[in-house]
Amino acid sequence: MAERTCLACRKVLSKDALLRYVASPDGHLTVDYTGRLPGRGAYTCVTLDCLETALKKRAFGRALKTELQPVELAELTGQLKEALETKIASLIGMGRKSQAVVSGTNEIQGRLGSRQLPGLVIVATDLSAGLYEKIKGLAQQKEVPFYRMFSKDDLGRLLGKGLRSALAFEPGGLTDRLIAELVRYQTVSGEK
Ligand SMILES: [Zn+2]
Repeated sequence: MAERTCLACRKVLSKDALLRYVASPDGHLTVDYTGRLPGRGAYTCVTLDCLETALKKRAFGRALKTELQPVELAELTGQLKEALETKIASLIGMGRKSQAVVSGTNEIQGRLGSRQLPGLVIVATDLSAGLYEKIKGLAQQKEVPFYRMFSKDDLGRLLGKGLRSALAFEPGGLTDRLIAELVRYQTVSGEK
């Protein structure tokens, strides 16, 4: 796997572990989350610190060898969050196709109390506070990764169903990939 250097901290990591940026033809710095946009690329770690440092050091223009339009950190993190949302949504869609996902708060509470623990639980951002605390508590007790993302409406749509308050994923490769992207999303959103 090819390696690249983070513009900010100079760490050398595999391309997969870094975030790629390109300059659009009119000089806008663009997050290239899929890593497939043509042209010269620049890289940073997927952390707000490295992104901000690279901006402050004006490292992007130098690395991309072009005159860039001024860009705010918030604009880049906005692009990145959007890319992550798209990626996470597509992975949830894949989980639906491979039937690696179950939904419904009762079903998920049952699974968290059983021996066949899920590998990941995602609850909707508009889940009621009571249910949120209850499911989170169960997940933490069983050390099942737990995240809050998307509205009930979005979660349902991703599964091709009506409103869904919570999803649970079977342990496996797809679930590991989802967790990795959710961790990134949390990092970029500044949540801990
Ligand atoms: Zn870095």
